[in-house]
Amino acid sequence: MEDENTGDAVIIDANFEPELMTRLIRERGAKVSAILLTHTDVDHVAGLAELLTVLGSVPVAVHDAERDVLVEGKPLRHEFAIASPPIENVVSLVDGQPFKAGSLEFEVLHTPGHSPGGVSLRIGDAVFTGDALFAGSVGRSDFRNSDGKALLEGIRSQLLSMPDEVEVYSGHGPSTTIGQERRTNPFLK
Ligand SMILES: [Zn+2]
Repeated sequence: MEDENTGDAVIIDANFEPELMTRLIRERGAKVSAILLTHTDVDHVAGLAELLTVLGSVPVAVHDAERDVLVEGKPLRHEFAIASPPIENVVSLVDGQPFKAGSLEFEVLHTPGHSPGGVSLRIGDAVFTGDALFAGSVGRSDFRNSDGKALLEGIRSQLLSMPDEVEVYSGHGPSTTIGQERRTNPFLK
């Protein structure tokens, strides 16, 4: 996510292909001042180490409920116990507290249920929903530390309360809008 006026940018989640991200940053000359994590499943943090090597030690922001995954390298899931190297510069994403990174300011919304520290990040008319809300679907809640009821409650109270035109960028699949999901998402009927 980049502010085109200032070049200030953040990275939201660190997938398996960090080299695509670092190339884009280089091409655009973006100034990345933080990496924000919607949650810490392996497909959202696998690229962290490489991004931090390229960018230097920018802060990595995560909800406190999943801080241990980064600080202690504790796996998020019992189901796939993948330990990752500990990250040093970890800061907190707190529900209701804006997160500032250069000229960018995000609204932080706790949307747990897929994982305990799941957050959605809103900036202007865009919201990044991680693996909480997808186009036409919602995140898995069959893991031991998932909570299907909390997932739907969080989506309803934190996300569907936004105006129709807000664009939704999820962790997987195409973008959508809040209005489209409120009207047609079968999991939210
Ligand atoms: Zn995912």
